[in-house]
Amino acid sequence: MRLVVDLNRCQGYAQCAFLAPEVFFLSGEESLVYDPHADEEQRGKVARAVAACPVRAITVDGPGAADRSATTARGQGSPHAGR
Ligand code: SF4
Repeated sequence: MRLVVDLNRCQGYAQCAFLAPEVFFLSGEESLVYDPHADEEQRGKVARAVAACPVRAITVDGPGAADRSATTARGQGSPHAGR
């Protein structure tokens, strides 16, 4: 499965890391690290993490999940872009 977390939305609540610790974990204070190509056997846990995320930051197999990764999700959507 492919998944992507919008790190601009993610607030580090760690619900996902609690529900699917094999896929999501926090590094440091509130920096989320995740496996963008998680095992199929994790799908149930990931689905629970998707549902539990308070800011709906996790997308699984959706548009953009195929070619975006943890490293490319950063820095997009800045409210100051274009100034
Ligand atoms: S549950 Fe959502 S907001 Fe919380 S760490 Fe995971 S992706 Fe980020």
